[in-house]
Amino acid sequence: MGNKPKIAMYWGSACGGCEVSLANVHEALLIIDANFEFVFCPCLVDTKYTDIENMAEGEILITFYNGALRNSENEQMAHLLRKKSKIIIAYGACSKDGGIPALANFHSKEEIYNTIYLNNPSIDNPYSVIPKTVTTVEEGDLYLPEFWDTVKSLDQVIDVDYYMPGCPPEPHQLVKVLNIFLSDEPLPPKGSYLGVGKTTVCEECRRVKTDKKITKFYRNWQIIPDATTCLLEQGLLCMGLATCGGCGGACPEANMPCTGCYGAPQGGSDQGAKMISALGSVIDIAPLKELPESEIPNYIDAILKDIPDLAGTFYKYSLAKSLVNRRVK
Ligand code: SF4
Repeated sequence: MGNKPKIAMYWGSACGGCEVSLANVHEALLIIDANFEFVFCPCLVDTKYTDIENMAEGEILITFYNGALRNSENEQMAHLLRKKSKIIIAYGACSKDGGIPALANFHSKEEIYNTIYLNNPSIDNPYSVIPKTVTTVEEGDLYLPEFWDTVKSLDQVIDVDYYMPGCPPEPHQLVKVLNIFLSDEPLPPKGSYLGVGKTTVCEECRRVKTDKKITKFYRNWQIIPDATTCLLEQGLLCMGLATCGGCGGACPEANMPCTGCYGAPQGGSDQGAKMISALGSVIDIAPLKELPESEIPNYIDAILKDIPDLAGTFYKYSLAKSLVNRRVK
């Protein structure tokens, strides 16, 4: 309490994993507690909206905003916390790039409501009730936030100072970033990614690459990959080539392909486009020389058919910030 700098962590449209990454700093929580006052974090601290409203502008040193922006409440909180915070950090893949919630941008609000509330075999909804923003009951009006048609990243709604990629960010990165603000060192330039590597997951991965070309992709459950060779070269779709490093290649280390949760490396643009172009260099194109031009698309399609859900694979965490952004209406 007292004069310690204030910090906050808020969840927009999120799964709670970012809060778990905070809990997973383990004993470093004591260091956080010794140096900062946690003034707002709905899953940890019982602060009310009005407590934040009553704060002075810039009274919070850092807000870690996790989660995408799916509804009007997410937006309202983003604007409020922007006003009350000196520094806003987009914490985690959903806040930074839209994350998994943004995959819903392939559908309209009506399609989503139909799937969840009307045509869902596990829901008993005889009166076809769907959420409304205002419901009048005997005691008065009840309000729900307005559900948006398009999921957005935090910086598509408010000004963001820094980004921490990851689904969720690794706990050690959070500690590293808090130490930046405790040190006397000058802060990184606005817009920097904090606590991550400067290159890709591939650069951090210890697996051996042999420049082997691939002719077939496999789902993760179809093969048991060997533990030392590049997973992509074994036909598993590993996004390491197109993904910002910082995790230390944790998934390939555990024999699982990178799914791309850190998004594109800093300064990189469209993660999915980068991965699609990277695939061009690993697919075996030698047989193309023997094929008539009319057969080339069939050859490529036959290889790509084993990658299910192309958009969901290449833009699993970054659709909101991609060139595609959403399905065209
Ligand atoms: Fe490692 Fe995946 Fe890159 Fe291969 S593609 S080197 S497995 S991160």
